[in-house]
Amino acid sequence: MPSVAPKASIAGLVAGKPALAGAPTGARIVRLHLNEGALGPSPRAIAAMREMVGRIDRYPGIDASGLVVALGQKHGIDPARIVLGCGSDELIQFLCLAYVEPGEEVIHTQYGFVQFPIATRIAGGIPVSAPDDGFTASVDAILERVTARTKLVFLANPNNPTGTALPAEEVRRLRERLPDRVLLVVDAAYAEYVQRPDYTAGIELVEATDNTVMLRTFSKAFGMAGLRLGWAYCPQPVADVLYSVRPPYGVNSPSLAAAVAAVEDQAFQDATVAHNARWMPWLQERFRELGLEPMPTAANFMMVRFPAEPGRNAEAVRPFLAGRGILVREMAGYGAPAYIRLSVGTEDENRLLVDAVRDFLNGANS
Ligand SMILES: *Cc1c(COP(=O)(O)O)cnc(C)c1O
Repeated sequence: MPSVAPKASIAGLVAGKPALAGAPTGARIVRLHLNEGALGPSPRAIAAMREMVGRIDRYPGIDASGLVVALGQKHGIDPARIVLGCGSDELIQFLCLAYVEPGEEVIHTQYGFVQFPIATRIAGGIPVSAPDDGFTASVDAILERVTARTKLVFLANPNNPTGTALPAEEVRRLRERLPDRVLLVVDAAYAEYVQRPDYTAGIELVEATDNTVMLRTFSKAFGMAGLRLGWAYCPQPVADVLYSVRPPYGVNSPSLAAAVAAVEDQAFQDATVAHNARWMPWLQERFRELGLEPMPTAANFMMVRFPAEPGRNAEAVRPFLAGRGILVREMAGYGAPAYIRLSVGTEDENRLLVDAVRDFLNGANS
């Protein structure tokens, strides 16, 4: 036993592990395991970041005004209610730390994003899981789990790892039926990719209520996961609370400069969405031809069901692909061991992936 014990609420949390286990060293690595954007960052973002590097002797502005103004213009929203974080993961933590008292409950969905229960426990709260309907979030199941101690509900829409999304009407129904004292956090990390006409990221709900927050990130469609930059659009009182708890200079100036340029590069964003719209159906068709079951998805990643036979199952395919330098995500930790999760890559990466999966199913040894 160590001399100093951490908080009881975080007992059992495990340290994150590197994902490269089993990958050949020095070989080309195809990263399809973290839902990163396929096209990398906008060249304009890289140029803007380079230019800012020479000015890192200065603190960034507390309100990071350049970026919140750019985001406000792009989305037609109030910049004063945008709060930036070192990734939206950090904003998830700040929301829990600022709103959840020890012993209060935070609802997430059964196959919801892993950071939700972790952030809940760091704050001393109690994570409550609401069963999915199939692999889609169930508004009714969430509502059934509301108690007098419920403080916050996290809904990732589209959800990671399932890729499924709820229509705007269902999210609105959730907000309407939740008690006003419950903060609803809609994490729209993949909103840019969604092409369903009945989907919205949640901006209108944030505007219409004083207890709904929308989270966004530069890690996925913007191809800038390494920047660590996310943002929350909040009712003014929530924005004020987040500004009061977050470190004043929590977001670095080269990242801010890159993000402004990325927000202004509409052509790059269009290319990203078009790439996904082309290659997601292509991958799904190839997997179906191979006898696999890809799940429907609204995002840039999908879950794929593998056969049950030993040697051809999801458990075996991850190390097989890793041996070829292709990284995908196992789903056993989420309680869906028949599946793997993988994201759309470049054309070249997608073809390498399909060839490797075909070889695997045909019984190749490596
Ligand atoms: C990837 C992801 C995020 C983004 O996290 P960052 O910290 O901004 O990189 C947030 N929520 C969900 C559901 C995600 O899948």
